[in-house]
Amino acid sequence: MRPELESYPHLASGKVRELYAIDDETLLMVSSDRISAFDHILRTPIPDKGRVLTAMSFFWFDALGLENHLVGGPTDDRIPAAVLGRSMVVRKLDMLPIECVARGYLTGSGLLDYRAEGSVCGISLPPGLDESSRLPEILFTPAAKADLGHHDENISFAQVVETVGAERAAQLRDATLDIYGRGADLARGRGIILADTKFEFGIGSDGGLVLADEVLTPDSSRYWAADTWAAGRVQPSFDKQIVRNWLTGDDSGWDRTGTESPPPLPDDVAERTRERYVEAYERISGLSFAEWPGGEQ
Ligand code: ATP
Ligand code: MG
Repeated sequence: MRPELESYPHLASGKVRELYAIDDETLLMVSSDRISAFDHILRTPIPDKGRVLTAMSFFWFDALGLENHLVGGPTDDRIPAAVLGRSMVVRKLDMLPIECVARGYLTGSGLLDYRAEGSVCGISLPPGLDESSRLPEILFTPAAKADLGHHDENISFAQVVETVGAERAAQLRDATLDIYGRGADLARGRGIILADTKFEFGIGSDGGLVLADEVLTPDSSRYWAADTWAAGRVQPSFDKQIVRNWLTGDDSGWDRTGTESPPPLPDDVAERTRERYVEAYERISGLSFAEWPGGEQ
């Protein structure tokens, strides 16, 4: 018999995930089907999004083969039936307060910083780069985690050193660049550009660096279709573009610049978005999502 979800103390809610305590050393991380767009959590969930993102994290943790926070598989006995397929049983770590971002392409806050200062996180870049340009080298662009409702703040490598010490900072940078490089290579071979991504690391009881949180999911990464990429314009998001187009199109009646939250999504928009998430998982992993636990029995 699997435990009931209610038997675990609820620790925290993120934008899309819920954190529970299994015991003093072990956490249950549950991904919901919630989706965010334009800084809003939409009121319409995307069916199976939580399972797809969980499947992707498991795929990547396995493919990367690095020390990570998983202490059980996707059907671990401690996972309640209600959240099977969208839960990870993980070792509770001392998390480092740094969002470890790697960028292979220039967009988002990196582009804003570049346009304002000619540099990102204190790293000078050549002139002439544009929206979505491929960067001359992969950048480690750390950020300090902001409180709920605020954006993370890009910081320099020197600030990372101040926060965690020189040795740990170098370790974070090297691990971030290494994992991004491996993830981007694998995705590229399957027609998908990993433009940038964010990792979080914790410290294990032996003092070693442990890869935690979710890994290389569409929520922590920007994925673009390689065959339509071109510098000089904003790229369609591999996973969210259908939602964004609908929200900014005439049918939604929504004003992105106003104060109203977005309206519910039509069923077909949610369904087509679900298919994009499944496609991203299947293309990248080469696995069938129909095999993933927690589907309709
Ligand atoms: P959001 O990502 O939605 O902006 P958030 O980061 O507060 O908000 P989540 O990402 O849903 O919320 O929550 C996951 C939390 O768990 C994060 O604070 C993350 O740092 C932390 N975390 C991830 N892995 C571990 C771990 N192995 N041990 C302890 N904490 C972890
Ligand atoms: Mg988070």
